[in-house]
Amino acid sequence: MFKNLLRELNDLNGQIIGIKIPVDEKGYLDRKCPNSECGKKFKINFEDWKNIVRDEAVFCPVCKNEAPSTEWNTAEQQEYINNQGISHIQDTFSKAIQKDAKHFNKQQKPGFINISLSYKPGNKIIPIPPAVAKELEQNYECNICMCRYSFLGTAYFCPSCGNENIQGNLKEGISNIENFINKHSEIKQALKKVLSEENSESYFSQIIEEHYCKIVSIFQKHAEYLFNNYPGSDKVKIRKNLFQNLYESSAKWKELTGKSYEDILDSQQYNKVKEHFQIRHLLAHTAGIIDEDFINKTNNNSYIVGKRIIITIEKLNDFLVLIKGFISAMNKEFRKKGVRSTFDPC
Ligand SMILES: [Zn+2]
Ligand SMILES: [Zn+2]
Repeated sequence: MFKNLLRELNDLNGQIIGIKIPVDEKGYLDRKCPNSECGKKFKINFEDWKNIVRDEAVFCPVCKNEAPSTEWNTAEQQEYINNQGISHIQDTFSKAIQKDAKHFNKQQKPGFINISLSYKPGNKIIPIPPAVAKELEQNYECNICMCRYSFLGTAYFCPSCGNENIQGNLKEGISNIENFINKHSEIKQALKKVLSEENSESYFSQIIEEHYCKIVSIFQKHAEYLFNNYPGSDKVKIRKNLFQNLYESSAKWKELTGKSYEDILDSQQYNKVKEHFQIRHLLAHTAGIIDEDFINKTNNNSYIVGKRIIITIEKLNDFLVLIKGFISAMNKEFRKKGVRSTFDPC
């Protein structure tokens, strides 16, 4: 009696239904990390999703969780996909049952008792395409696999190849320090609301010093990145943490590129950078207490041995501005050699 229905049921097995998921105006597809502790939403250029991203492994740009490409739908997209499936089944079954009922009724001969079948389809599910999240401002393009993606904050990894996005990390580091400098009065006030006057002063000084030291790590990471991407860098051996030391790294720089730091930065600026590096050295190794070695290296007699160095907001800002200029000058040199740096702070 249910010939058509049984046939359709059989046909549904393994059938693929084409579902169109909307993308934003720039052609980016919404994605969501399936790691329940992360769950960050990001976007991938739809063409790159189809052509570059592999089916077997996609990476979260924030936590580097790895999962097959089918696992990255947002809740709205998943609901839409499920409803599309149900709606397709409803349509197919409804038509088959109607056909079966018609066929059954046709076969009935008029008699004392008449049997007829009628079929009323239930409420049909109408899938509503998921709303597309608005375009995100932070756009990235992987230097290695060229996949284009975007995230509201800093992306640490490429979702397609999983490589570390060094440039993105540096950008975030600099912007955090800039935000701190711009909002330092408000931050100080906010600290006073939760801590005592004395504790908030001490805590505030500690944040300034941490940001100050962070500038050296930002420089170090960027310089290392450029160095390793320069043609012929595999022939120049460098030690770990070389770029924390300006004297040594400048020599290696010259060995690789033919130019030392003195050749790419004006001497007044470079002297200031050197002094800041020495101050950072004090903070890291003598708890900020000025020693003979520091006076000899900086040639600055305004410092007194035995006293502690004070990092003011002005000093922090001065260091940041100098390092941004320094990084830009390095990028310029590397661009001449065709080494691309996607991060330029100036
Ligand atoms: Zn994640
Ligand atoms: Zn990549």
